[in-house]
Amino acid sequence: MKKILTFIIIAVMVTLLYIKWQVPTQLLATPATPNIEHDTDQNLILVNQQHPIRQDQLPTDLVNLFEQQRTYTLFSSDIQLRAHVATALQQMINAANTEGVTQFIVMSGYRNLEEQQALYDEMGSSYAMKPGYSEHHTGLALDIGSTEGTMEMAPEGKWVANNAHRFGFVLRYPADKTAITGIEFEPWHLRYVGLPHSERMHEQNLVLEEYTP
Ligand SMILES: [Zn+2]
Repeated sequence: MKKILTFIIIAVMVTLLYIKWQVPTQLLATPATPNIEHDTDQNLILVNQQHPIRQDQLPTDLVNLFEQQRTYTLFSSDIQLRAHVATALQQMINAANTEGVTQFIVMSGYRNLEEQQALYDEMGSSYAMKPGYSEHHTGLALDIGSTEGTMEMAPEGKWVANNAHRFGFVLRYPADKTAITGIEFEPWHLRYVGLPHSERMHEQNLVLEEYTP
């Protein structure tokens, strides 16, 4: 009888030990959730001559910059960006302002298909992308200038080129990547990709065509 009792006690202890060790082992054994953030990150949408924007990529959270708290000038009162991009833009400009770089003007933001068509008809293919193929459809891109002169010369342009990546933005069409982007150097065209992507792209000198999988 004593032997049986001892056996049962040992059996229970072994079972408890098994459970104790088994639980963390099972947790470890669970297949890791694949990191799909990169693929599904809306901030990394690639729109270019080969990749027209899809219906499900059109922005649904646009805000009118005219109605935002801002320290930059607007070319017109109807310029829109996605909400989080408008926030990041003001954060970036706040930082520039503290360094005495203050003469920013936002020329253009989101464009719908009709607006892009009108621009294309008016300015031609050397200036504007065909409707559906412009990054401006994403609500993540903007054209920013300086009231002091061209972006290549003005302090605003230099500041943006050196600092935009700290706030989630990249210069989308740099001078040394025209063969890859198919677009001439545009020191005014900023694209929001978010952090840490903008930092990585800046450090590794990659444009979106090279960075996206
Ligand atoms: Zn642009």
